[in-house]
Parts: sequence; structure tokens; C-alpha cells
Amino acid sequence: MLSLKNVTKSYQVGDFTQNALNGVSLSFRKQEFVAILGPSGSGKTTLLNMVGGLDRYDSGDLIIEGKSTQNFEDKDWDAYRNHAVGFVFQSYNLITHTSVLANVELGMTLSGLSPEARKTRALEVLEGVGLKDHVHKKPNQLSGGQMQRVAIARAIANNPDIIMADEPTGAIDSETSAQIMAIIQEIAKEKLVIMVTHDEALAHKYADRVVKLRDGEVIEDTNPYDDAQEATGSLLLKKTSMAFKQALKLSFNNLRTKKFRTLITAFAGSIGIIGVAMVLALANGLNNEIDELERSTLAQFPLQIDPFPIDIEAAQGNFGPPGPQLDDQGFEEFPDVREVYPYEEQISEDQHINVITQDYLDFLDTLDPDLYFEINAEYDVRLPLFLREAENQFRGVDQGGGGVDFEPTVTSEEFLSQSYDVIDGRLPENANEMLLVVDTQNRLNVRFFQALGINPDVASVSFDELYALDFYSFYPNDYYLENEETGRFIPSGDYEPLVESGDAIALKIVGVARESADSLAGFIDTGIKYHPDLEQMYIDAAQTSDIALAQAASDTSVITGLELSPQQKQGVLRQLGYDTTPRQVLIYPVDFNAKTEIREALDAYNEPLPEDEQIIYTDLAALVTDLTGDLINGVSYVLIAFSSISLVVSSIMIGIITYVSVLERTKEIGILRSLGARKKDVSRVFNAETTIIGFTAGLLGVAIAYGLTFPLNILIESLVDGIDGLAQLSLLAGVALILISIFLTFIAGLIPSRIAANKHPVEALRVE
Ligand code: ADP
Ligand code: MG
Repeated sequence: MLSLKNVTKSYQVGDFTQNALNGVSLSFRKQEFVAILGPSGSGKTTLLNMVGGLDRYDSGDLIIEGKSTQNFEDKDWDAYRNHAVGFVFQSYNLITHTSVLANVELGMTLSGLSPEARKTRALEVLEGVGLKDHVHKKPNQLSGGQMQRVAIARAIANNPDIIMADEPTGAIDSETSAQIMAIIQEIAKEKLVIMVTHDEALAHKYADRVVKLRDGEVIEDTNPYDDAQEATGSLLLKKTSMAFKQALKLSFNNLRTKKFRTLITAFAGSIGIIGVAMVLALANGLNNEIDELERSTLAQFPLQIDPFPIDIEAAQGNFGPPGPQLDDQGFEEFPDVREVYPYEEQISEDQHINVITQDYLDFLDTLDPDLYFEINAEYDVRLPLFLREAENQFRGVDQGGGGVDFEPTVTSEEFLSQSYDVIDGRLPENANEMLLVVDTQNRLNVRFFQALGINPDVASVSFDELYALDFYSFYPNDYYLENEETGRFIPSGDYEPLVESGDAIALKIVGVARESADSLAGFIDTGIKYHPDLEQMYIDAAQTSDIALAQAASDTSVITGLELSPQQKQGVLRQLGYDTTPRQVLIYPVDFNAKTEIREALDAYNEPLPEDEQIIYTDLAALVTDLTGDLINGVSYVLIAFSSISLVVSSIMIGIITYVSVLERTKEIGILRSLGARKKDVSRVFNAETTIIGFTAGLLGVAIAYGLTFPLNILIESLVDGIDGLAQLSLLAGVALILISIFLTFIAGLIPSRIAANKHPVEALRVE
């Protein structure tokens, strides 16, 4: 069934060529016990390895079942070794980190037998060699004779046709040798057994046929066989392959025998993971904190519909031509000139302009009132404000930044109470009542005092003194007088009659509101706030007022006589209460969810409209949190990049350790190959090993990082008020990091595992 035709094999050692086989021709019967005899170095092992498919011949041919092997590929040899050949070596070649049972099962694993079938068969053959009671021991807990019996059991487990034994009793005492030989002789009753020995007596005692070698040539054959009449059959061998699960099991067992080293390796590998995990946990916590801020405190920030909505992305400088524009040379950034230049503010062409229409205001009216505290349209009406200090003595109160902030108030107590406390009196209930708003320390800008003619050197002014003040405002027709000559309007200056006739609007402060301590810096300015009804009354009167009608008809200011741009003209008409398209609308949502709903409604309004008719709102709170979030993410990326360096370093280290493991397990690689494992299977074993280390490193890293978040949070709590449990490692991040760890170590192990796969089986077996 096997025959060698003029086979040669030589080894090149430096410049010297060692001929191990010199044209050997031999044929073997299907069933016989052949002993190969010869002195050391005569080529016995070379011959055996060649016939067993562990090594390749240089020239000649090996015929198996009538089929030439000259065109055999790796996978054919792998299948041949696995299914047709069983090896028994002088040095047993058992895998020391798995049990006797697992050793015997290994070859069957490669041929794809089910786990149950494997176990049954392994127990059967182990019982056959008398080792029934030792199946769960590790090989190094057995005697030499017992180990060789395990090797024999492994060799016959797959029921091969040929058994190759290379000096099987070479390391065993003579009494035990007899037992081993008896077992082999028994096997040879059904199979072809080729046994190498240098013990002449042993050969003649047990073998059917003795072949003598010397210097790589056959010098004697006691029972030659001519296979010329043997039919050329066809050789059908099932391909072998190792399941990844089996590779994992092998590696796992191996790692178990060096727990400490594996743990240290995994720990070193986990350091990078810990770094990245901590950064992620912190970034996650900070982002949550900001989200929370947006949900709670910042939710009170109104949605703003401004005439020129903030567009963060748009370019900043909306100005006209720069100063000294140097012809042909373009602009100069810091011109060296001693002149100043005028510029006109320009709106960039991309700048969206919100034109708030009646249609839009009607749409806002349809919003569910439960979603907001208030919707405030700001008309920018400028009501005149006077303080009557004595009869016929009126003080014009400066308004705006240079004096008193005199504006309509928010009337929703529910909304106001979120950031303001009414600390005295009450909120205005009608057009004649006003509210004084002070800061958290009951303070007001000194300009407020000056505007009211109060000596700013006083330590304080009592609420009652302020309540006692008599304020007045006047309707436009009462307040402005037209100069017949110039056609311009000026304040009449004669107010006492208006007070007497009751045409003046008498105003009183009726309460004081104070910013609460935890409010975000006031979105209502300090100052005097009037009831929206007052504004409405003024607007109503303005519609038919002389000054407003005159201004509407003129492109120059009817007060100053200066020319007005269309925009400026609209501004003046707004101040006069004539133009009632709101300049700005503020929507105060009740909470974050309501804000989201309102935003959706506003978006839905815009959807069908062409872009220039859309009304774009600004969510300042979202802008703030987005910007902060971006910042946190940016910082996180940088930190992650730094900790990734340690990830790379630890991956390289794991690659090196895997390489060390390959060196250590070279013998195991040889054993696996002799049992029919493909190169691919060998690399699998090491890939499995790096996978396990990667997984352990990832798990360890995530677990340590998770554990570290607790002391870290305690530290942060002690440093920053009101922030607890900041660092939070999310489950998703944890799982992702473990996968990344597996991936990186796997990549790092690819080169060592390839080196392992390419090891020559014979050389690998020779390593001690
Ligand atoms: P035996 O098993 O009969 O003692 P071997 O088959 O092992 O002999 O060796 C036959 C000859 O080939 C010896 O001279 C040995 O030194 C040589 N040889 C075997 N393997 C190698 C090798 N890998 N490299 C170089 N020479 C080798
Ligand atoms: Mg030898």
C-alpha cells in the first residue's frame, strides 16, 4: 500500500551537504510489522518522517495506495497524516498542559468528530492500553511507559491504516518495553506498523520483517515485497480542520498553566484601556451634566426670534469696506496710517432676516398654552417717563443703559417665580402699576438713582420712598408739539395741565422683585417694569397721533430732521408705537420637554415655506450646551489620543509575549502538525491565545476603570459643589473597549501566529 521509489533526501548544513537518504526503494504490505534497523545517523528517522508525510523527499516518489504524491499539496499531506497515519515518538510528544484524555482526543478533533464520539473512542483506546484510571491526569503525572501508552492510544485513536513508531522504547526500561512492544504487536495484526529501532534483538523478536539501513541506503530486507501487481487504487482523504472553539480550548488550557504571566500580561495590556475608559467616563459624565443643566436651569431661557438670528457659522465681520483700501494691493491688515475711516454697518448677504408677520403671530397663538409661561412680543415702544418732583416740576427720566430700564414686564407669576421673588408689594395688575426689579443684593446701578434725581451718595433708599414717587407718561399727541415753521416735533415741556386734566398717565411702583440667588444672571434687566396694558394703550393712541402719521409719510426724522434709511425709519416708527410688527419674540417654555415640543412646532411652521420667509429661532441654551459639549468632546479626543499611545504600546508588548509563547510551544506546534493540523489551525491556536489575552485585558481594564470612577467621583464631589457621580462609564463604552482590546491584541498576534504556522513540523518536534 506504500512504496518508495528511489527516494533521496539531503540536508544542507552550511557548505556541507549531508545525504540522509540515498535512493531508497521499498514497498510495504497493507498489514505487516516492519522494523527498520540501523546505526545512529543511518537515515531511519528521515525515512520514517518521509513515509509519514512529516517531511518531503528531494527526488523519487512515494506511492500511497497506487497514487503518486509528487503533486501533493499541503492540505493533502495534512489529511494524510490525520486520517492514514498515527505517530509514536521516542520522546512521547504529549501536550503537557492538557489531560491524557484531551491528548488522545486531539487528532479526532481535527478530523471533525463530534465531542461525544471523540470521548467514547478516546476512553476505548485508553482502556485498550491499560490507562483507564489515568485519563484525567496530566501527562507529566505519569511514568515513561504510561506516557508512551498514551502516545500509542493517540496514534490509533483515529483508526489509521499505518502506525509510525520512532524508537518507541528508546527511553523505557526493558520490562516496560516488553509491554509496549506487545501492544504494538497487537496493533500490527490489523495495520501496517513501521517501527524504527537500533535494538537488533527487539526487532527480530517482534517484527515480521526487518529492513537494515546504512548511510541512507537499504542494505538488507528479510521479507521484500514487490507491489507491481498491486492495483492502482484511488486515495480519498477527508480534509482536516480545527474548529476555533477547539483552538480556544487549547489556548485557554495553556494560559491556565501560566496564570500569573497571563494576568500580568493582561494587566499591562489593560492600562491603555483604563486610560481611555476614564476619559470616556469623564466626558460622558460632563456631557450628562450639561444635558441636565439644559434640561433644568437653562430650560428657562426663552426661545428667541430675533430680527437677525444668530448664525454661529456665518462670518463675523458684517462691515463695509475696510479703512485704507490700497489699490491693486488688496487690503492691509494693520495699515500704518494716521487717519480714521467711516464705515457703514452692513448685513451680510447670507444673513437671514426674520420678518415677523401677522400670520406668524397668529400661528404662535395656536401653540398649546400649557407649553409656555409667556410669549412676549417686543415692540420697542419708547414711552416717555417723567417724575413729578413738585407742582410744575417734572424730571425727564433717562432710559436704557444711561438710566432706568423702562420696559414692559413679564406678568406670569409662575414664570417669574422661577428666577425672581416678589419680596415686597405685588406684581402690577393694571396699566398704572409698575414693578421694581433689583438684583440679588437689592442693588441697582447708580445711574438709576441719578436718573431719578436721588443723590447717589445716599446709603440706600427705602421701598416706601420709591412707592411714593409720582411717575407720569404722556400720549404722543399730548407730549409732542409740531413746530409750524420747521415741521419738526419737540416735547411740549408743559405737563402740569395734563396732570390736572387727567390726560397724563399716572404711574406708581407697587412691588419689588428680586433675582433669586440661584437664578442664572437675569434675563430680565433690573429697573422699572410696566404692565403690558400700558404699552397697548400707548400703541392704540399712537396709530392716530400727528407725529406718527407725519413720520410715516417722511423719510427724514420728524424729530431730528436727519435722513433715515428704511430700517432706521421702521425703528423710529416702532419707538413711536406706530409700527406694531414685533422686533423680537421671546417664548418662555415651561420646561425642557415643552421647549422640545415648541421647537418641533416652529420647525413644522417653517417646513413648507421658502427659505427667505422662514422664521429662524435661536435656542441660546442649546447653543451654550452645544458649544460646551463640542469643547468637552474636543478635549476628550486629545486625551483619548494620548491614552491610545499606551494602547499601541501594550499591543506591541502582547505581540512580543505571543511570540515568546510561540517559541515555548514549538513542540506543541510539531505535535499538532503530526496529528494533521493545517498551518491555518496552528495560527488559529495562537490567534485564540491573543484573543483570550485581549479579552482579559479589556475586561480587566474596564473593571478597574469602573472601580476607579468611585474614588474619582468622591474626589470631584469634594472639589466641586453640587456635582456628584460625575464620571460614568457607560455599558456601551465598556463593551466597545473590550472589543477594541481584543481587536488590537489580535492584530498584534498575527505576525507571531504566522511564524508559528510556518514552522517545519519535524524541526518543531525536535525542540525540547
Ligand atoms: P537516524 O534516525 O537513523 O539516527 P536520521 O534520519 O535522524 O538518522 O539522520 C540521517 C542523517 O541526516 C544524519 O547524518 C543526520 O545528521 C542528518 N540530518 C537529519 N536531520 C537533519 C537536519 N534537519 N539538518 C541536517 N542534517 C540532518
Ligand atoms: Mg532517529
